[in-house]
Amino acid sequence: MTDAELSALLSKMSLDEQVSLLAGSDNWHTTAVPSVGVASMRVTDGPAGARGTTFFTGPASVNVPCGTSLAATWDSDLVEAIGRLLGKETRAKGARVLLAPTVNLHRTPVGGRNFECQTEDPYLSSRLTVGYINGLQSEGVSACVKHFVGNDTEFERMTIDSQIDERTLREVYLQPFEAAVKEANVGAVMTAYNRINGPFAADSKELITDILRNEWGFNGIVMSDWFGLHSTVEAIEAGLDLEMPGPTRSRGPKLVEAVANGLVDPQLIRNAAGRLLRFMDRFGALADGGPGPETTRDLPEDCALIRLAGAAGMVLLRNENQALPFVAEGLKRVAVLGPNAAAGRIMGGGSAMVKPVHEVHPLAALQSRLGDFGVEVLSAIGCPIHRTLPTPEPRWVSNATIDYFGSSDDLTAASVPIRSESLSRFHLMWPEDPAPGLSRAAFAARIQMSFVPDETGTWTFGLTAVGVARLLVDGVVRIDNRAAAPGGSFFGLGKEQVTATIDFDADAPHTVTVEYLDGGAGLMRGLIIGCSGPELSDPVNDAANLAATTDAAIIVVGTNDDWESEGYDRTTIDLPGRQDELIREVAKVSPRTIVVVNAGSPVAMPWLNDVDAVLFVWFPGQEFGNALADVLLGDVDPGGRLPVTMPRRLEDSPASEHHPGRNGVARYLEGRLMGYRFYDTIGRDPLFPFGHGLSYAAPVITSAHMNDFSISVTLTNQADRSGTEVVQVYSHDPEGTGASDDPYQQLVGFLKVNLEPNATTTVDVPLDPRWAAHWDVATHGWTVRSGTRELRVGRSSRDIAITLTTTVSS
Ligand code: BGC
Repeated sequence: MTDAELSALLSKMSLDEQVSLLAGSDNWHTTAVPSVGVASMRVTDGPAGARGTTFFTGPASVNVPCGTSLAATWDSDLVEAIGRLLGKETRAKGARVLLAPTVNLHRTPVGGRNFECQTEDPYLSSRLTVGYINGLQSEGVSACVKHFVGNDTEFERMTIDSQIDERTLREVYLQPFEAAVKEANVGAVMTAYNRINGPFAADSKELITDILRNEWGFNGIVMSDWFGLHSTVEAIEAGLDLEMPGPTRSRGPKLVEAVANGLVDPQLIRNAAGRLLRFMDRFGALADGGPGPETTRDLPEDCALIRLAGAAGMVLLRNENQALPFVAEGLKRVAVLGPNAAAGRIMGGGSAMVKPVHEVHPLAALQSRLGDFGVEVLSAIGCPIHRTLPTPEPRWVSNATIDYFGSSDDLTAASVPIRSESLSRFHLMWPEDPAPGLSRAAFAARIQMSFVPDETGTWTFGLTAVGVARLLVDGVVRIDNRAAAPGGSFFGLGKEQVTATIDFDADAPHTVTVEYLDGGAGLMRGLIIGCSGPELSDPVNDAANLAATTDAAIIVVGTNDDWESEGYDRTTIDLPGRQDELIREVAKVSPRTIVVVNAGSPVAMPWLNDVDAVLFVWFPGQEFGNALADVLLGDVDPGGRLPVTMPRRLEDSPASEHHPGRNGVARYLEGRLMGYRFYDTIGRDPLFPFGHGLSYAAPVITSAHMNDFSISVTLTNQADRSGTEVVQVYSHDPEGTGASDDPYQQLVGFLKVNLEPNATTTVDVPLDPRWAAHWDVATHGWTVRSGTRELRVGRSSRDIAITLTTTVSS
C-alpha cells in the first residue's frame, strides 16, 4: 500500500471507525471496519506453539521446546527453523500474529515464566530472538516480541514498578528488544503489565515513542498485554496502538470523547490507525479479508525438527565414568523412575500452553528403544509432585454435568439452568462468556458427579477458583474457598487451592457437587476440582526397591506446568515433593544412577555427588521422550549448554536480596550484575556455570586469534566419535568504567560447532559489534572507552582456554 493509498483509506474512515481499530473485538481479534473493507485480524499465543482461539477445546497445535530449551541450543539457525515452523502453525490457526517470543531475562531463578523466556544473558537472548523472528516473519506472520520491558518476574506483575537504572536498562533488559527491532524488523511489540520507573509500560512515552520508534526506528505496532491498558489519554499519547483484548475498556467512546474534549490530538488516532493498517498490509491481513479457519498440521518433518531441537538443548551437566551414553547391549533390566517419567512435562503453564498434537513421554520412548535391545524396562513414580491436586481420575467419576445460571441468586433458588452440559474435564476456564445470555462476570454454575472411590482410606479434595466456590460431598459442605488467599492461579487472577480430607470406603458411591458462586473481578473465570486417593505404600521405598533389582536407574525428576507458570513465581529452587529423597534412596542401591531434570529453570541438586550423570532437559516440547532416548543412547550428542547459571542455593543468586520487591516496587539493585556477571564479579562459585555442558566427544580449544570483527578459534576433537561444542567469547575490561556494577566479564560472541571424530576444525566466532562499548549516562549514548581489553575464549564462563589481549580506542 502506498502512502497515498493509506492516507486515502484513513480519510474515508470516521473518527469512531479509526478509534475502533485501536482495540480488539474479543480475546484474539482486531476490530473490523466493514464500511471501508477492513476485516479483522487474528492474533494467537505464544512462544511454544500457535494455540488458536481456544485453550483446550479447539484443533490441536504442534508444541516446540520452551524458551530455555531453545536458548540452551545456542543455535540461532536452529531457532530460526523453529520460527519458520511456528509461522506455518500460526497460519494454520488462521492468524497473522504470534504473540512471541518472550524475551524478558532471568533476573532470578524463581521467575514464574523463566521457562518461557530464554536466558539471563542479553547477547545470547538477542541472537536467538533475531533467529526466531526472522524464521517466523519469513512465513508472512508477525512476531510480537514481549513484554516490553521489566516483566522479569511475576510478583504483583499487573502493578509492580520495576525500577531499573538507565545503564542497566540499556545494557541488559532492552537489548533483545533492540535487536528484534533493528536486526529482525519485528512487526509488533507487546508492552509489559508492570510499571517502569513510574508509569505503566503501556503509558510510557519514553519507551514507546522516544526509544522504540524514534531512536530504534520501529515502524510496526505496539499492543498492550491482555488487560494491561489502564489509561485512555496517556497510552495513546505514549504511542500505544492496540488495546488487547477487546471489547475495549479504555478506548472506544472514551477515546472519542477525549478527542472531542480536546484531551487527545486526533492526529494521534490517525497515526495509530495508520500504523495498524500498514501492519495489516505488510503481513497480508488486509488481503486475507478476515481470519482463516483453524486447522491442525501434524507432519513428520516438523516432529523431526522438534525432536532435533529438543535434543540440541539437553545439557549434560555431569557424566562420571562415562555413565552416558547408555550401551544397551549388556543391560538386562533398567528402572525408569520419577514423577516425570510416565508423564513428562513437555511445556510450562499459562498463556504459553497449547493443546499438543501428541506427546511422547520418557517412559514410553525408553521402553520402545531399550526394548529393541531386549532390555526390560521397569517403572515407578517415586513420588507425586503436584502443586494443585490432579483432577479426578475418569474411573472414579460418572454422570458429571455442569448447569449454568445467570447469577448465584438463581443457583441458590435452584431455578432452571440457562444451559446444561455433560462434563469430562475438571480444569475449567472461561476466558469469554460461556454462552449467549451468560455473562463471564456474573454467571454461576453447579457441577455434579457420582463418585465411587476404588480404595478405602483418606481421600483429598481440592478447589481452586477465580472467585468463590464450594465443594459438597453428599450434600455436606467440605470446602468453601471464601477465605482463600488471592493470587495463586489462573494467571494470578484466582485464589490458592483449598483442600479437605474425607475418609471413604472402597466402592461406596457418593455425590460430589461444586457450586461456583462468584467470579470476582470478572476478567476471566476458572475452576479446578482436584482429587487424590490414599497412599497405600511408601512410593519412594517402592521405587528404590525396584531400582535395586536393575542394572541402571534413570530418574526423571523436575517440576511441571503448575510449578512453573504465569501469574506467580516459585518460592524455592528445591525440587517439589520428595524428589531429593527419591534420588538419594535410588542412588544408594542402583549400580548406575542417571538423573534427568525436566524443569524450565534451575533447581537445587543436593544429591549431585551421589549420582553418576545429570542431564538437564528443560521442557523440550512434544517429542520429549524420543529426543531423550536419542541422547541417552548416544545417537545424538547432548548439544545444550546452560543459558542460565545453576546456583547452589537460591540465596546465592544476584537478585535474591531484592526480589520480590516490596510496597509495590521492585528495585533492580543488582544493576548489571545479572546471572554469571554477578557470580564472576564477586567470586562466588555456582553449582554449574553459565555456558557449561558436556559433549560425548572430547573438544579441546587449541588456538585463537583476533580478526577485525571475529575471533578465529581452532578446536580438536580428541574422541573417536562426533559431537558438538559451543565456543564462547567473554570480554573483560581490566580497568572498568568505575561503576560499582561493572561486570568482571560478559558474553560477546559464541558459535555452535559440529565436531567430526578425531578432527581439527577452525571456526570464525562473530563478535557483538558493541562488544567494547558501554552506555554512557552522561551523553545518553553508546561509547567506547579507550584502553586494553581481554577477550576470553572458552567452553563456559568458568572454563576459559585462551585469553587474547587487545586495545580499543573510542
Ligand atoms: C500474557 C501474554 C499473552 C497474553 C494473551 C497474558 O497474560 O502475559 O504473554 O500473550 O496473556 O494470552
